[in-house]
Amino acid sequence: MASQVTFIGAGNMASAIIGGMIDSGYPREAITATSPSDDMLAPVREKLGIHTETDNAAAVANADVVVLAVKPQIMHDVCSAMRDAVQARKPLILSVAAGLPAETLESWLGGELAVVRCMPNTPSLVGAGAAGLYANPRVSEAQRRLATELLEAVGLVEWVEEEALLEAVTAVSGSAPAYFFLMFEAMEEAGARLGLPADTARRLAMQTAFGAARMAMASDKPPGELKRNVMSPGGTTERAIEHLEDAGLRDIMQQAMTACAERAREMA
Ligand code: NAD
Repeated sequence: MASQVTFIGAGNMASAIIGGMIDSGYPREAITATSPSDDMLAPVREKLGIHTETDNAAAVANADVVVLAVKPQIMHDVCSAMRDAVQARKPLILSVAAGLPAETLESWLGGELAVVRCMPNTPSLVGAGAAGLYANPRVSEAQRRLATELLEAVGLVEWVEEEALLEAVTAVSGSAPAYFFLMFEAMEEAGARLGLPADTARRLAMQTAFGAARMAMASDKPPGELKRNVMSPGGTTERAIEHLEDAGLRDIMQQAMTACAERAREMA
């Protein structure tokens, strides 16, 4: 029988994961989502056909997994209010909330719990996410497999063995969709200055990023080799890449991602 999964919060991230689970065949009847008002739950219930509940404590009473998917600012109050129900059941706790350490969540929920902390990213909303996961020592192998199954429904899952490495995951994938959006903006502007209609430049740039990612993922060659394969000596690509290297793109990425990881550490 499928594990009972309760989502605390039924917003963007919860709906994305639930939608992915259902698309990959997870039984709807094993999924519950909560929100304080039924007005917010009615569309979720109708669209996804899952159970809904306005009382968090009642919703965790028969849960094998509790997914914490509310905003970090309200997490303390939400955890405190369902602490007794969680302690009575001891489900796997899976948090997608940014910046809240596993130990903090565990203590807010009364202690001695298996906690998986996940750093997802926004492309999860279109089923193409990339998530880093950390398990505290109480998480069993079976619970790890279950967490992997739930999150793989919306994209790639990579485990890290130290919680602090989620800060690096934040730099490499959590915040990274924005790096590519910035690149699209820059390529659109540059394409327009070269005379293309801006929307044409935008579509060409985005499709090229999509194609490059697909090609790199399908290839057993490292990206550096794929890059060199596009560069003929004295040709157009070589000229562009020389400019990017001379302008210090690698250093810029190093600095930006270090700053991102430092900010994640400050916020934890
Ligand atoms: P959201 O605002 O879309 O959803 C939050 C949900 O929580 C809403 O449905 C709200 O009704 C519900 N809620 C509020 N109070 C509640 C309570 N007391 N009990 C139960 N539910 C309650 O937010 P989101 O974007 O889905 O983010 C949820 C979590 O996911 C956050 O912790 C965020 O850090 C994390 N996250 C989101 C993204 C993303 O792409 N959206 C990316 C990374 C991490």
